[in-house]
This record gives sequence, structure tokens and C-alpha cells, in this order.
Amino acid sequence: MMHSAAANEKIKDLSTAAKSIKHKRIENAVEEILDALGLDLSNDSLRETPTRVAKMYLNEIFGGLNEDISSVLKSFENSYGYKGMVIEKDIPFQSHCEHHLLPILGRAAIAYIPEDRVLGLSKLNRILHHFARRPQVQERLTMQVADMLSETLQTDDVAVILEARHLCVEMRGVRDRGAETSTMVLRGRFEKELKEDFFRQLN
Ligand SMILES: [Zn+2]
Repeated sequence: MMHSAAANEKIKDLSTAAKSIKHKRIENAVEEILDALGLDLSNDSLRETPTRVAKMYLNEIFGGLNEDISSVLKSFENSYGYKGMVIEKDIPFQSHCEHHLLPILGRAAIAYIPEDRVLGLSKLNRILHHFARRPQVQERLTMQVADMLSETLQTDDVAVILEARHLCVEMRGVRDRGAETSTMVLRGRFEKELKEDFFRQLN
């Protein structure tokens, strides 16, 4: 027991060390960008920006990259035998496009039909936020949420719809304010049999 506890402690230390190396690398890179832009980093307001950005990248907006959510996704036996649709809709989410590192701001609807296992409702949101907190492409995010849900619940009957604004479309390039991108993955019975019913529930 002592041995394994000590080994675990070592692993924890390593990951803290790895984290601080990452922090330092990001901090240096941000400093380099600001310097290349000709900004004065000795300025009171900018001095802490590299470290603030590093902290934000690692702990918040890209925190999903270093997070293991399998332990929080504990499913339960479907003891009440509910076999209808479970829909969680209007879930706000934020991510960042991996092409420009600008925000993606949207809403999601996530649904499944239980077989033997069910999940706590907030876990659907957790899956979404886990994959959203990393540089993303909306299409891939939609599929990753569907895959993880399907794998956790051992069912093909899953649906994920994302509607989002991409600030890289609004602030640069075509600069179309308010344009929204929709992506959806409909699998199993959501693909045909329950499609209409599902869309009726969403509206
Ligand atoms: Zn982009």
C-alpha cells in the first residue's frame, strides 16, 4: 500500500512539473507575440498578460486537453426501465476554433434513448464541455460528443445538434455578424424513425 501511494504521489508530482513546464512555454510564446507586435511589456497593464494567458489556456479554455472525464461519467442501471427519448437542450457552450483560436459560442441539444444504462443529466453537459475546452472544429466536436455518449451508454441511439457563432467568421474574413453554423449527428433511431419526433421536441 505504502509503495503504491508513494508511486501515485510521484505521478502527481510529475504532472505538476509537466504543467509548470507547459505554463512557462506558453508564457514565453505569448511574450514573444506581444513583443513582435511592438508592445511594451514593461507597461503595468501588459506585464502580467503572458502569465494570465498561460493560466487561462491551461486551466480554462483549453483545460479539456488535460482532463480525464471517464471517472465522472459513471452510468447507472436503467432500473425504472424508461425507454423514451432523453433530451437535454439549450445547453450553452463555448469553444475555440483551431484555425484562428477565436471563440465559438453556441447552444447544444444532446439526446439518447436508454437501453440498460442511464446517465445523470448534467453528465451530458460535462461531455460537451470536456470536448469544447480545446481548440476545435465544430463538426468534430459534434461527433466527439456523440461518440463518447454512445460509448458510455452502449447505445447507437444518440443525437447531437450544435448551433454556434464563430467569431473568426464575424470579426475577420467575411465579417458576417450573427451568422450561425449548425452541425448534427443523428444515429440509430434518431436517423429516421424518431427524427421528426425529435425535431418537434426541440421546437
Ligand atoms: Zn476559425
